[in-house]
Amino acid sequence: MEGFVYDTVIIGGGPAGYTAALYCTRAGLSTLVLEKFSAGGQMTETQSIENYPGFDESVDGFTLGFKMQAGAEKYGARTVNAEVRAVFLTENPKRILTAKEEYLAKTVVIATGASHKHLGVAREEALIGGGIGYCAACDGMLYKGKTVAVVGGGNSAAADALYLSRICKKVYLIHRRDKLRAAKVHSDALGRTETVEFKWNTRVAALHGEDTLTSVTLESTAGGAPETLMLDGLFISIGRSPVTALFEGQLAMENGYIVAGEDTKTSVDGVFAAGDVRTKEVRQIVTAAADGAVCAHYIEEYLASEYGA
Ligand SMILES: Cc1cc2nc3c(=O)[nH]c(=O)nc-3n(C[C@H](O)[C@H](O)[C@H](O)COP(=O)(O)OP(=O)(O)OC[C@H]3O[C@@H](n4cnc5c(N)ncnc54)[C@H](O)[C@@H]3O)c2cc1C
Repeated sequence: MEGFVYDTVIIGGGPAGYTAALYCTRAGLSTLVLEKFSAGGQMTETQSIENYPGFDESVDGFTLGFKMQAGAEKYGARTVNAEVRAVFLTENPKRILTAKEEYLAKTVVIATGASHKHLGVAREEALIGGGIGYCAACDGMLYKGKTVAVVGGGNSAAADALYLSRICKKVYLIHRRDKLRAAKVHSDALGRTETVEFKWNTRVAALHGEDTLTSVTLESTAGGAPETLMLDGLFISIGRSPVTALFEGQLAMENGYIVAGEDTKTSVDGVFAAGDVRTKEVRQIVTAAADGAVCAHYIEEYLASEYGA
């Protein structure tokens, strides 16, 4: 156990977490970011961000994530790469546990974002990295010249299928309905792409292959016969869920999201939720970053009232 009590410990190093860290350190607060993978969060899954202000020629997610981390560390924020395994949010100081260490904090920012939904089909977990993937932009090049499928019908699935169509020999788009939910611009582009074939009204019922995926069984949602599709890779793009399991029973939640308004305050004093993890309408990089800045303001206010800092 470190013994030192941080003004704030931030869980998650995506745009919300590192913006909170930037504003907190610039306000003179001792600030620790705990990040289980690498800076950037979900941004690292895309090679081209075109709607974050200030990058007129787009920017890839890793670069933007590392820039955000560097910006916060320049002013004194500390990063430890570790997964938070448990939290005790109502204690004072609050306790945050990783596998190796216990950290103490006057305030906690939860910026754990969101992660991929899984299909829930047998052997999915076992085949992750062996043909099953959730991020076309990250892993697509592994399937250059090969045959892959994307599961899903929204914007992410359509964008993934388009991206893969530029790399792979053949791309199937498996969707349980008879039309996409994706924006017209994506659907139209897919319709014009010869290497993309739609598998309408189907869902993945079984995954085959010992160490690597070889094929999938498709089941019809419209009463048709099952079908076997030979595949080198399957990308699952069926949406995201907030990463909040750690906080269940400690904070008010709604549909898995931490209840917090624009002030980022949660149901527990001194605990703030920033970015995709909280109840909000628009989940984007710029809104996650905005939450980071806002929560730093209320952290300062809380520390002044509770600790006279
Ligand atoms: C493929 C893709 C493309 C996108 N493209 C765009 C785009 O072009 N423009 C745009 O504005 N938005 C885009 N988004 C959405 C945007 O990336 C998110 O809205 C934004 O990243 C949310 O930021 P966040 O900081 O709230 O959470 P996240 O980015 O999800 O970051 C959360 C971080 O917390 C860490 N974490 C979680 N649990 C723990 C734990 N227990 N211990 C330690 N660390 C933990 C995670 O590893 C992660 O790094 C895209 C998302 C995806 C998936």
